[in-house]
Amino acid sequence: MVFSARSRLWVYLALFSLTLVLTAAGILARPSATLSLFWPVNAVLAGLLLRHRRLASPVGWCLVYLGMVLADLACGSAWQPTLWFNLCNLSVILTLWLLMARLPRSDRRLRTPHGVLCLLGASAAAAVVAASLACLVAAPWFEESVRATWLAWFSEQFSTSVLVLPVLLSAPSPRSLLRNGGQPIGAAPLLVLLGSLGLGLAVGGPGAIAFPIAALVWCALNYSPFLLSLLALGVGSTLIVAVAHNVMHFSLPQSETAVTALMSARLGIAMLVLGPVVVACVSHANRQLLRRLEHQAAIDHLTGALSRSAFTHQASALLDSCRQAGLPLTLMMLDIDHFKAINDRHGHAVGDQVLRQFAHTVQEQLGPGALFGRLGGEEFAIVVPNVAPQAASFLAERLRRAIEELTVHEHGPALRISVSIGLVGRSAPSTVGDLDALLAQADQALYRAKAQGRNRVVHCHAQREVV
Ligand code: GH3
Ligand code: MG
Ligand code: MG
Repeated sequence: MVFSARSRLWVYLALFSLTLVLTAAGILARPSATLSLFWPVNAVLAGLLLRHRRLASPVGWCLVYLGMVLADLACGSAWQPTLWFNLCNLSVILTLWLLMARLPRSDRRLRTPHGVLCLLGASAAAAVVAASLACLVAAPWFEESVRATWLAWFSEQFSTSVLVLPVLLSAPSPRSLLRNGGQPIGAAPLLVLLGSLGLGLAVGGPGAIAFPIAALVWCALNYSPFLLSLLALGVGSTLIVAVAHNVMHFSLPQSETAVTALMSARLGIAMLVLGPVVVACVSHANRQLLRRLEHQAAIDHLTGALSRSAFTHQASALLDSCRQAGLPLTLMMLDIDHFKAINDRHGHAVGDQVLRQFAHTVQEQLGPGALFGRLGGEEFAIVVPNVAPQAASFLAERLRRAIEELTVHEHGPALRISVSIGLVGRSAPSTVGDLDALLAQADQALYRAKAQGRNRVVHCHAQREVV
């Protein structure tokens, strides 16, 4: 993101205000005792700075620290512990930033399992730094033992980073949200997830924290990494709150052990929900790869027309739907005239350019419902659904004329080409194997167009030149 001087002022103001609001919210949500159950400000700000790395300037870091300190002071904290505690908080953000900002974009945005592992390592390192710093500089203000203080800081910072950061790092940009926002998603995995979470809370006991995991994995296989991260955050926070309030009845009676049990549960929950996040990243990466491979297999890379197999597949389906709806359909076969001579005279590269411009010109003339495929070499086919035979003949003639008027400039004198077209129409296609029959008839018509002198359209049934 590149900021102009004026917009930079607004962006810094927004960063400062967000820090104030998040810190104040964390303080107000803090139970009366010592440390907060959730302190999301560190993870949220780290995620924000990792998404918009230009914000992480000296001014940005100062504003973040200032925002935290002012919010803490405004909520009634004494100034000395406020300065030290927020230095610990800043150390979390700084460590996450230092360890993750230089990762490749795909890792940073959690598009790879390696990225999730880096997040895990960075979260653990940031939690170690903050917990150790807290024990060193802020110990006088804690009532617990050094061990309990270290564990409390470590488990809180680690679990919050692991739960919150994936949401920010995998969040789609507004542009891609607009592009893919309308895609429907299945509700079944979500409902099962809610059901298993409810069941876990009702049954209770230590094993109950694992109840939603199978449903989360199912969600991971179906939803985007961002949606899955949101669900993981929801499930993880619900479980941590439930354990903290002993809803699941597995805290141990003695207070010191109970605190340790909460730390342990918090770490365990964070690790458990991270598994489905990895699954979501892997399955998302696989889906993307599959889509790319499908696209590569379906599109002829030279001309952008459908490949032969994709054309056959899609044309058969179109034939079937026209048959069911009782709609007419036209198939055309197109073959560039004397194309071999162009290759021989001007070279293969010029031949390729002719193929490209030929396909581009044809596609410009076709409506959105038509299929255009490259059957091989300089031979193409078009299927036009729901067009009366007369209109199809006009379209074929329009195509022929557009190609006749096309001039190809490729490192030399302008080249002119022509095309012969064989056309066959069905008022309503009848059988499933009809595509082969239609292709054979269009091929015969094309053969006659060539025999009659090229640069013309021949209709199969008319057995004569149409134009
Ligand atoms: P006709 O008018 O009878 O159709 O003659 P033609 O020369 O167009 O047809 P022919 O089948 O004799 O030659 C087709 C040529 O197309 C032969 C082949 O080398 C060339 N060709 C096939 N694929 C490609 C390609 O991808 N790029 C280029 N440049 N040439 C190709
Ligand atoms: Mg030819
Ligand atoms: Mg040919």
